[in-house]
Amino acid sequence: NMKLEIIANSMMRVYSLCESEALSYGHYIEMEATNQDIMVWMDRDKIIQVLINLIRNAIQAMERAGHIQFILRREGNMAVIQVRDNGKGIPLNGLDRIFDPFYTTKEDGTGLGLSLCQKIIEDHNGNITVESEVGVGTLFTVHLPMYQE
Ligand code: ADP
Ligand code: MG
Repeated sequence: NMKLEIIANSMMRVYSLCESEALSYGHYIEMEATNQDIMVWMDRDKIIQVLINLIRNAIQAMERAGHIQFILRREGNMAVIQVRDNGKGIPLNGLDRIFDPFYTTKEDGTGLGLSLCQKIIEDHNGNITVESEVGVGTLFTVHLPMYQE
């Protein structure tokens, strides 16, 4: 179900869906996505699902009141979406595996979230990467090709 979308609008939707859950843990989501010119040819529901997965992982990674940055910017012809948290971080041996199906460190986790995120983003000809430092936090970066007329 592909359509041309203003990616900032989908991010706003994700923000409204996740805000109350974040607040219930004392976390604060800072959104910086005002650029209405960044258009992506995409399956809106699937991209929203990806971003919800990333934000919920961030919420779950922070033990005390935390801070999530949810940012959109443009890099050449790519839309770049970042989700940064100041949670517990991911050790090196986990970084190799977090996109593997069924890899989870949570008692009630499925380990399917990030493998699905990666599949959806690759189906959109984009990519998803992670940087993390234990005790400092984690940054997920999604690149999606911008629509060109
Ligand atoms: P699940 O959330 O069910 O565990 P995911 O595929 O979404 O499955 O994530 C896999 C694993 O990656 C998590 O169990 C966790 O160990 C790690 N992870 C994902 N996002 C973060 C994050 N923001 N901070 C720390 N660890 C993370
Ligand atoms: Mg998850």
